[in-house]
Amino acid sequence: MTSPVWHPFTQHGLNEPIPLVERAEGAALYTSDGRRIIDAISSWWVTTHGHRHPRIVAAIRDQAERLDQIIFAGWTHEPAEALARGLTEIMPAPLQHVFYSDSGSTSVEVALKMALGYWLNRGEPRHRILTLEHGYHGDTIGGMSVGARGVYNQAYTPLLFDVGTLPFPTGDGRATLDALEAACRDRPAALIVEPLVLGAGGMLFYSAAVLAEMRAICGRHGVLFIADEVMTGWGRTGTLLACEQADVVPDILCLSKGLTGGAIPLAVTMATAEIFDAHLSTDKAKMFFHSSSYTANPIACAAALANLAVWREEPVRHRIATLAARQAERIFALEGVRNPRLLGTIAACEIGGGEGYLAGIGPALAAHFRDRDLLVRPMGNNVYVMPPYCIDEADLDRIYDAIAEAARRFA
Ligand SMILES: *Cc1c(COP(=O)(O)O)cnc(C)c1O
Repeated sequence: MTSPVWHPFTQHGLNEPIPLVERAEGAALYTSDGRRIIDAISSWWVTTHGHRHPRIVAAIRDQAERLDQIIFAGWTHEPAEALARGLTEIMPAPLQHVFYSDSGSTSVEVALKMALGYWLNRGEPRHRILTLEHGYHGDTIGGMSVGARGVYNQAYTPLLFDVGTLPFPTGDGRATLDALEAACRDRPAALIVEPLVLGAGGMLFYSAAVLAEMRAICGRHGVLFIADEVMTGWGRTGTLLACEQADVVPDILCLSKGLTGGAIPLAVTMATAEIFDAHLSTDKAKMFFHSSSYTANPIACAAALANLAVWREEPVRHRIATLAARQAERIFALEGVRNPRLLGTIAACEIGGGEGYLAGIGPALAAHFRDRDLLVRPMGNNVYVMPPYCIDEADLDRIYDAIAEAARRFA
């Protein structure tokens, strides 16, 4: 019996097994065939505190009993109001305005549209966007346009708009910073970056000093600085936002993934008063032209509010520091891996030898982890561990034992 489901990022022709998951708790997934799988990648980077955090589950249940959905253009509701207030309190002070959407990709589309609207409404239309090499900002057309080009979007490249791509910052980042200075002279609208970690690009890290300098250059040239913290936000890099580590505040901030603790889809694009005010007018033509049907869904907002309460009232920062220390102990002790690296709760390394072999190693590596009841999804030969903050030592040991074994098998 074949399923009618068409899965994302899945080549159905390879007939790889697709486990049926029935239940989840903490850092574990339970399948219909009775296996307990350790979720080493937070279900694709979304689950922060752990699956089914009781407080978030209760908030979803309570809100579903009261108000399920309401148009958000010209109407409002308490979960959205309270969440926006809560976000402006916990996020950097200049980010005073909260625009809701439903996924990381749409939060990026919204950010790009805000930037272009800002410039048009100021009577100085600009539309060029600057990006970092190897960047990833989602799979919608705008998100793909500002992200790296490759096999995953080659069918669509004729539709993608042209951007200015800065070299990925290595070392002191001089080449990147010089390229940014030069590109700013052409009066681009904005620079969009993933702060400190390029996730889908292969868990590539760069320094806080380079991030701070990129932000400073944009500031000097009046180019808007968009931080896509869809992955890095909510503690992944050790701090609530990665931008904190560089003491940087963006003009526009994209958040999703961990916004609801990973329980239900929601995204926000936060903006400064300057961006909001550029759209403020009695002229309808200057309003921000964006919406989707489920904008600020009340149940999703209630889940995000519960996430804020978890951050406020539970020792989340302590859990993050503990996980970071446990990850550090293990990733740097691995033998036979290349380029072991760690930032906050994110650990990564490379497995296998020369370049030619690399294309083939991905599926074999994935099968290696699948056979050991681990949800690890290597990117090529890049293996990373980004678990929910609640994961215990025993589960981490199982993950690292499997990585060590893979390093021996695929050396
Ligand atoms: C995952 C991700 C996105 C896209 O988010 P979706 O919710 O999958 O649309 C955008 N930017 C970054 C940095 C991401 O990691």
